[in-house]
Amino acid sequence: MSLHSKHFALPYLREETLPSTFCSGCGAGEVTNALIRAVKDLGHADLSKFSFVSGIGCSSWITSPYFRADTLHTTHGRAIAFATGLKLANPDLKVIVISGDGDLAAIGGNHLIHAARRNIDMVVICVNNYIYGMTGGQVGPTTFTGDRTSTSPYGNPERPFDLARLVAAAGANYVARWTTAHPVQAARAIRTAIEKKGFSFVEMISQCPTAYGRRTGTGSPEEMIAWFKKYPVRKKDEPVEQRIPTRDGLDLGVFADRNEIEFIDSMRAIYRNLEA
Ligand code: SF4
Repeated sequence: MSLHSKHFALPYLREETLPSTFCSGCGAGEVTNALIRAVKDLGHADLSKFSFVSGIGCSSWITSPYFRADTLHTTHGRAIAFATGLKLANPDLKVIVISGDGDLAAIGGNHLIHAARRNIDMVVICVNNYIYGMTGGQVGPTTFTGDRTSTSPYGNPERPFDLARLVAAAGANYVARWTTAHPVQAARAIRTAIEKKGFSFVEMISQCPTAYGRRTGTGSPEEMIAWFKKYPVRKKDEPVEQRIPTRDGLDLGVFADRNEIEFIDSMRAIYRNLEA
């Protein structure tokens, strides 16, 4: 049996870079599988039509150096800014940003909400593990209130962002949230995000047993997966009401699915009017 016939993702990966450097039990592998499953289901035999952009952090290593594709590994918090330039320079490219909650929602938070507001055609996959994993387990913008981290040893006094609701409210055409315990739904959501014109955001809740599970007592990868499976799934077309996320209260599913005009189309419409 050839190596490629062993796993559907292998033809899309640089085998010489494997095995990955992720900790044992990290959710990054499941996010990789969901993304490659979506690309494969869309009929892409390779990644030549895609460019992947990431920031800094563990999940920023999902695509670079492992994907057999053009990848841009950029500075902390600036992945969407780089991706915006890339898309404007070559609108035919399928641009996918993949990065973590700290990179995208704290350091890069302004880029995230303004890209959603512009509704620029790209996919952003946010791997949300509730903490800064790579840099030592510091409190982040999605860490739950009361969680003990390396920078909140007595408990986090802040309230977390609900990223799916934030990006939906900012104007993205498509927003969904799934977890590493929902691989089929996650792959379907990423597939929809790739097909959708405009800004698409898929929040992937992912286990970080090393920094989050160990420090907060949420446990091993198996225990975290069991926890994620208990999250409620939203009903189709359920109203998106504001709420502060809690460990038990994070809902999954689709938060926005609309077809508002995309940024580059909007620019082209204005230039056409100027020329007329
Ligand atoms: S620190 Fe956490 S997020 Fe980073 S590779 Fe390890 S388990 Fe994964």
